[in-house]
Amino acid sequence: MPRPILATIHTAALAHNLERARRAAVDARVWAVVKANAYGHGIERVFEPFRAADGFALLDLAEAVRVRALGWRGPVLLLEGVFEPRDLELCSRLELWHTVHCDAQIDMLAAHKTQVPQRVFLKMNSGMNRLGFSPERFRAAWTRLDALPQVDEISLMTHFSDADGARGVAHQLAVFERVTRDLPGERTIANSAATLRHAATTRADWVRPGILLYGSAPDFPEHDAAHWQLQPSMTLSTRLLSVQTLAAGATIGYGSRFTAEGPLTIGVAAVGYADGYPRHCDTGTPVLVNGVRTRMVGRVSMDMITVDLTPVPDAVFGSEVTLWGRASNGAVLPIDEVARSAGTIGYELMCAVAPRVPVAVD
Ligand SMILES: *Cc1c(COP(=O)(O)O)cnc(C)c1O
Repeated sequence: MPRPILATIHTAALAHNLERARRAAVDARVWAVVKANAYGHGIERVFEPFRAADGFALLDLAEAVRVRALGWRGPVLLLEGVFEPRDLELCSRLELWHTVHCDAQIDMLAAHKTQVPQRVFLKMNSGMNRLGFSPERFRAAWTRLDALPQVDEISLMTHFSDADGARGVAHQLAVFERVTRDLPGERTIANSAATLRHAATTRADWVRPGILLYGSAPDFPEHDAAHWQLQPSMTLSTRLLSVQTLAAGATIGYGSRFTAEGPLTIGVAAVGYADGYPRHCDTGTPVLVNGVRTRMVGRVSMDMITVDLTPVPDAVFGSEVTLWGRASNGAVLPIDEVARSAGTIGYELMCAVAPRVPVAVD
């Protein structure tokens, strides 16, 4: 018997969330962002529910090859563009569209031998200060690209730093619009948070939702996934492999981090940090046992956690434990709540599920 830990990918939820993105950005085409192996879900597993997207956006060329191998003939966008000259050969061969964010990438294009001009997305650094041409240098980059026989259509792109928070997008939007006002080409500017929170001001030809497709709220805890009508696309579940009754004063686990104040029944669940469950979770992190909400107590071990069974008196060896996602009784534990307990975000938990965890699709 394998350990009872399991990640389940919910294809109906993925399709629902894609539809939700479409509703938020009515006139726009939708890139399904599937970088990082579809935020840990597996590109092959999300492909069918995301077939209804207008394109796939990612950044690892090996992942682009996988999308083409699945039979996708529509647009594929490399969000960081190419890393070395021979990547452009792959772009030609597989018809990949690619981001151009720096001069080195234009140099590579200028030296690239191809019969087929390529479609590029010229990226502006409008204030995120990670990738892209500064507003001052953007038009020169556009002019240089426009003169290259290797380049077909030039689209325009930028990325927001604060679409999920108080600062918002207006300051970056103003820069982007001022510099690109009279340039031709399609635009793509909105990630999940901008798509949900700033739909009216970030209207463009394409949106680039990632996290919302996977049922996590980009602006948790201000809003949760239910607020945005998103459904969890991943459940991490396991079972109890022991039930212990503790006397008052007994401690639990490494470092004796938790002391029972009175008699306490705890369960030991088969999941630990070697499965990708964050070790930063501590006493109080929410967990479902038999679909009933309770809390973790003590430290996360490599292969086990301990949970308070007080609200679940019927729990026994083999009872279902849901670390995040949907329990068999339909109860939902949002990944964002668990992430918050670990001082991180839903993105990181999804991406960090360990290779040793078996994955099912429903
Ligand atoms: C990852 C990424 C996105 C998607 O971001 P979410 O916050 O997951 O919606 C969009 N655009 C770019 C350039 C990205 O790298």
